[in-house]
Amino acid sequence: MAETKSTCPYCGVGCGVVIEHDGAQITGVRGDPGHPANFGRLCTKGSNLHLTATPVVIRHQRLHQPMKRATRGARPAALGWEQANREIAERLLAIRAAHGPDSIGIYISGQLLTEDYHAFNKLARAVIGTPHIDSNSRLCMSSAVVGYKQTLGADAPPCSYEDIELADCVLISGANPAWAHPILFRRLEAARANKPGHKLIVIDPRRTETAELADLHLQLRPGTDVALCHGLLHAVIWQGWTADDFIAAHTAGFDTLKALVRDWTPARTAQVCGLNEADIWQAAEWFATSPASLSLYCQGLNQSSAGTAKNTALINLHLATGQIAKPGAGPFSLTGQPNAMGGRESGGMATLLPGHRDPGKAEDWADMATLWNVPDLPGQPGHTAVEMFEAAARGEIRALWIACTNPAQSMPDQAVVRRALERCELVILQEAFAHTATARYADYLLPAATWGEKEGTVTNSERRISRVRPAVPPPGEARADWRIAHDIAALIDAGLGRAPRLNATSAEDLWLEHRAATRGRDLDISGLSWATLDADGPQQWPYVTAGTPRLYTDGRFATADGRARFVAKAYLPPAEAPGPRLPFELTTGRMRDQWHGMSRSGSVPGLFAHEGRPAVRLHPADAARRKLAEGELVTVRSRRGELVLPLRLDANVPPAGADIAMHWGEEFIGAQDGVNAVTHGAFCPDSRQPELKFSAVAIEPA
Ligand code: SF4
Repeated sequence: MAETKSTCPYCGVGCGVVIEHDGAQITGVRGDPGHPANFGRLCTKGSNLHLTATPVVIRHQRLHQPMKRATRGARPAALGWEQANREIAERLLAIRAAHGPDSIGIYISGQLLTEDYHAFNKLARAVIGTPHIDSNSRLCMSSAVVGYKQTLGADAPPCSYEDIELADCVLISGANPAWAHPILFRRLEAARANKPGHKLIVIDPRRTETAELADLHLQLRPGTDVALCHGLLHAVIWQGWTADDFIAAHTAGFDTLKALVRDWTPARTAQVCGLNEADIWQAAEWFATSPASLSLYCQGLNQSSAGTAKNTALINLHLATGQIAKPGAGPFSLTGQPNAMGGRESGGMATLLPGHRDPGKAEDWADMATLWNVPDLPGQPGHTAVEMFEAAARGEIRALWIACTNPAQSMPDQAVVRRALERCELVILQEAFAHTATARYADYLLPAATWGEKEGTVTNSERRISRVRPAVPPPGEARADWRIAHDIAALIDAGLGRAPRLNATSAEDLWLEHRAATRGRDLDISGLSWATLDADGPQQWPYVTAGTPRLYTDGRFATADGRARFVAKAYLPPAEAPGPRLPFELTTGRMRDQWHGMSRSGSVPGLFAHEGRPAVRLHPADAARRKLAEGELVTVRSRRGELVLPLRLDANVPPAGADIAMHWGEEFIGAQDGVNAVTHGAFCPDSRQPELKFSAVAIEPA
């Protein structure tokens, strides 16, 4: 038996794993004791990874060879790589010639490796010439990106996981790490056990397993996070707990914010948020006066039409109290996906360019033209995820190339997404798994390698770059994602009569190109190499001569003048207001043991032991008022669609709230679209992240 060190492909904690394998078969997995994210521990999902690669799963769940549909709805038939690549290149060239490069969109994934991201980024912007490349990370952390940029000057989480152990007060807002980031939660539990007087504040409309551990659970009304942060800041200012020297030396804009929060007295805040006023005073005191306060946050703040406002309001609190840039303190955004960070670094999104450059700036495009030696880059930001599918539904985007993600389940407002996929002239799906909801719409299905078969790097939530290594060859004719993009790019370049613009012989070649784009930037990794990662283990960026556990410790932020910015954004309610016909506030979220659309985790029967079937959860008092009973089939209806689910009574759901896990797709809910049949596509104006956490719905007997 052989062993290969790699990284877990699920969440953004980025745990190290040791893959046990025997020839072409993965036989086991255990935590890597030398990996600084997990020190050998794995959660249920990670410790079952080898069961997602059994011979039965590979035979029945994986794509083994390129497939093509002669017509939409027809059974796909196998074809060779050479023919598939040639046909796809010819069809993309024809669409590009007839309608321009902007008629092609590329939609990728936070589960791709950084090298894959780099290849797709060049395929889109340098080879096809379209600005429309975006990632499913848009649904996950784009509000965190913009929140950091507007306040601290760069998209860089300033903290480390070790700050969980060093903090005296931890504030968790809009996150349930007990389920979504379990290894970090174990670290938090251990830290609390070792630190008498430690304070944990959890802000969440639901009483989650994370909230159960809290000293103070602020069970606010969904969508009122900005109001709460403004109220907390009001209390801090009133009590004189502001860090005046820090504000004067290292920030700008405090007076404007102070004027904004003047009216957010804790009494008014309590009324708007549905909280006790005393709890707001208490939370403000613990956060401001503890020696070191850390916040952890995730989709509850990000997936919102006010996502950026929620992020900046929380970061304002850190800046006003000086709880930043020191051990155990700072605003720490947790990433949902294993390589959302790598996608941000390599600029594989419509609103980012490589090396944290900005597609809204001509000088940053000029940088990229020099780095890539490509004179004719698009020169503008492209459509973000929701906008890209809306453009396809209108007929403006005519070809969609989708890699490693399942928009026909995961995007909001499925009616629009499905209309887009049906209307496109060409849909290319590059996937490891054969039976996703999106596969039905694909004209070409290209088999991709996946965990245990791929080589490259990923970056976790604490800016730590880890190596991903192959233990076994991919099944059948499946190939690395970067290789698929690379080979079709070469045919497109040949068709345009020019030398290849994406020219690599290995994943490491692509990483070296990515590294070159970081030189002199806030995320500079010019001193790092794969050899260093192999010899010294995972490292945190920036890395010029050594890794960097904590940012801004010299008091200088990533803005032009070195001062962090207070951002004064008013509280706005969610985009859709509940009313007499749609009285419930529906939220979506994760289950403990499943991942995204379940294409991988759904192949392990044991992972259904915790939660075995889909349901909509309602507070028992709401169910009683409507004479609805546990287990009864109910219709969940919004302005966009409906679905039928069994009812679960759950006192942890707030009154007037409803909860459906995001994972269940049509495979598990019959011929329905999953929860995104009813969610809507409203998004934050700054981050373009959709409001998956709040939709107004009715719930009635089916
Ligand atoms: Fe994998 Fe996340 Fe679990 Fe770690 S915590 S084993 S990265 S799913």
